[in-house]
Order: sequence, then structure tokens, then C-alpha cells
Amino acid sequence: MQKILISACLLGRPVRYDGRSVPKHDAMIDKWLEQGRLVPFCPEMAGGLPVPRPPAEIHGGTGIEVLEGKALVKTREADVTAAFLKGARAALDLCREQGIDFALLKEKSPSCGSRHIYDGSFSRRLIPGRGVTAALLEDHEVSVFCEDDILALSHVLI
Ligand code: SF4
Repeated sequence: MQKILISACLLGRPVRYDGRSVPKHDAMIDKWLEQGRLVPFCPEMAGGLPVPRPPAEIHGGTGIEVLEGKALVKTREADVTAAFLKGARAALDLCREQGIDFALLKEKSPSCGSRHIYDGSFSRRLIPGRGVTAALLEDHEVSVFCEDDILALSHVLI
């Protein structure tokens, strides 16, 4: 049975920057949980960041540019790029160790976002693009689905 890496905050784990979670209530998630398919993971915590932590956004590009060394992830005070890269690599390592080919990730996050992320201005403006972890996983053939694509993910699982 294929496993799915899932953003830990979507499963109700209080790992977000604000110390909260964003539980996704969906019958399919309940079913996958029961089947033991879900592997919860928070890249930002795996990268060594605490809870709570200052919010961060990507400056000068999207996750792919961060991976290429052309953009940075910053809070209002600090450069946290290294922690975001470490967390993304830990996510990929976990997928490789457990043979995970699919990920269901929280949208708009500078780590987990797969369609849109914030633009780096801390003004809640969204731009098209992926977060650092989503970009790294997709570059290594892990198919990333956002929280609104649960049905689409269910159609490709075996
Ligand atoms: Fe959720 Fe991903 Fe942010 Fe962790 S890094 S809190 S899993 S969106």
C-alpha cells in the first residue's frame, strides 16, 4: 500500500509558526489514517526551527530559486534559509527511506506550498510557486498534492 507524506499541521499537530495546527477534516484523510498510509512531517521543525517561531517568507523568488541559491527564506529579522533547506532534505530522505512517492502538503507555506506562496513582503500577497520542500520533492519524483487536491490524490493511489 502506497504511503503519503503529509504536512503534520494538516493532521492536527500544533507545529505551525503560531503554535497552532490547521486540521483538514476529510473522510479520505480519515480512511488513509486508518489504513496507516499517512506519514506526518513538518519540514520547518525538522530543519531545527522551534514552535512558535517568527513567520518566514521567500524573498527574491520561490522554492526552486532557494534550492538554486538564488533566493532566501527570511523572517522579518533573520535569514532562515539553511533551516528550510535542511528540513526539505530531511523530507526527501524520509520519502526515500520509506519509499514514499506522494505528498499531501499545506498550501501557501514557504516550505509546503505547492501552488501559491507569499511574495516575501509580509503583506499577505500570494504569488504562483512552490515552497522549498514542495519544490525539492517534486524535483525528485515525489508527486506533491495540495490540501485541496485530496480527490486527485485518491485517484492515483493504489
Ligand atoms: Fe505545516 Fe509544513 Fe508549515 Fe510544518 S512547514 S507547519 S508541516 S505547513
